[in-house]
Amino acid sequence: MEIFEYAPAPESRAIVSIRPSYDLFIDGEFVEAKSDERIVTVNPADEEPLAEVAAAGDADVERAFAAARRAYERVWSALPGAERGKYLFRIARIIQERARELAVLESLDNGKPIKETRDVDLPLVAAHFFYYAGWADKLAHAGTAGTRPLGVAAQVIPWNFPLLMLAWKVAPALATGNTVVLKPAETTPLTALAFAEICQEAGLPPGVVNIVTGAGDTGRAVVAHPEADKIAFTGSTEVGRQIARAVAGTDKRLTLELGGKGANIVYDDAAIDQAVEGIVTGIFFNQGHVCCAGSRLLVQESIAEELLERLRARISLLRLGDPLDKNTDIGAINSAAQLARIRELTLAGESEGATGWSPACPLPERGYWFPPTVFTGVTQAHRIAREEIFGPVLSVLTFRTPDEAVAKANNTPYGLSAGVWTEKGSLMLWTASRLRAGVVWSNTFNVFDPASPFGGYKESGYGREGGRHGLEAYLG
Ligand code: NAD
Ligand code: MG
Repeated sequence: MEIFEYAPAPESRAIVSIRPSYDLFIDGEFVEAKSDERIVTVNPADEEPLAEVAAAGDADVERAFAAARRAYERVWSALPGAERGKYLFRIARIIQERARELAVLESLDNGKPIKETRDVDLPLVAAHFFYYAGWADKLAHAGTAGTRPLGVAAQVIPWNFPLLMLAWKVAPALATGNTVVLKPAETTPLTALAFAEICQEAGLPPGVVNIVTGAGDTGRAVVAHPEADKIAFTGSTEVGRQIARAVAGTDKRLTLELGGKGANIVYDDAAIDQAVEGIVTGIFFNQGHVCCAGSRLLVQESIAEELLERLRARISLLRLGDPLDKNTDIGAINSAAQLARIRELTLAGESEGATGWSPACPLPERGYWFPPTVFTGVTQAHRIAREEIFGPVLSVLTFRTPDEAVAKANNTPYGLSAGVWTEKGSLMLWTASRLRAGVVWSNTFNVFDPASPFGGYKESGYGREGGRHGLEAYLG
């Protein structure tokens, strides 16, 4: 087979202007932090610093909550839903107008391919604001237990979908009449700060959205703040546990969206090439930095060999490299720390007896990179079958019967996502109804829509984001 080479097709970064240094966004303005600690955010594709942001301290977090409380009481909670909706529609439209710029900025700060930020992240970000804008004046018809806002929402988000996770948190909070103090992840603060500008551009009343940058200590101060009526966290199960412990016994409301170890089940009657595409999307989308990734492939034994052969051939065609190149399929790993975690777990895979495979895949010299990797010979006891790797690493297990597929799929402390590949509707429904996972995709994977609720069972957390269900978390 002749393979055509792709010429480089880099997206220009000229559309983005990054300031050398950013302040905090509190009460509608960028204000200097009282803390003099700063954090440098780098481009993980070349390790070059992009900008410096403030690491908000207790006094800064205090100020943000005071602004959010004032805005809640004086303006936002009293505004008719239709008026709140207008602001959200305006924000959604500005996001669309600035989509190209935001996509480039996200790729620079996060390392994910421009193809994804442009075609997945940004359209979904805008769609979330449009969707919840539509609910703002219809809350009485949403079927939720309550229709009153809770107050001030403390929101802490991760680095894997920086602006999208912001949208998932901010849009429903604002639509329901709550105000927000949000902390973006320390390695990806820049699109949240661009969003702060969008709030200004939209004329959003000061204090409705406050953005405090910083690392874990800032996050801890945000979720522990006494003025937080509702806490929404997305990130690691470990930090989620700490937050649940701290909130226990208070009347604060809490939603947690934590990790996952999703099973992608392929039955012997599945359309194989379609399944291969879904397996690739399931684990290599966003370098596998996806909580609902299909990180465990469960394939029926009778087709395992053929499927793996086609999968390896497909993976060999993936292009790894410059995130700003429009041809790139796999971008950079978000941080040195995440790369170290991926390496540690894949080494454990080898030493526990599984067999790793990667295509011939030259890695750029600078930056954080990891080749797409497939492990076979994996047993359920292996760490790579149980622990979330959060990287481009697939663990393959086999099964003989549907019962065995379901038992293996559910044999995990997590319960966020799963995939089922079969041409038989009855088998698909039989399987889906037995899977303990918040989302089950059939003959597709990693497809999202703002109208569809998302969330987990067990150690994947609790509460739902998205859809009508997502309103529930912000109403009392
Ligand atoms: P993390 O949980 O430490 O970070 C997520 C967010 O929480 C960041 O904004 C961080 O600053 C903040 N934070 C950290 N400590 C905090 C604390 N004590 N209180 C409040 N906020 C705090 O996650 P990480 O270290 O960036 O990643 C570690 C692992 O977590 C990954 O390898 C992956 O397995 C998992 N993870 C899952 C998701 C997800 O979408 N569910 C996202 C990111 C990471
Ligand atoms: Mg960065």
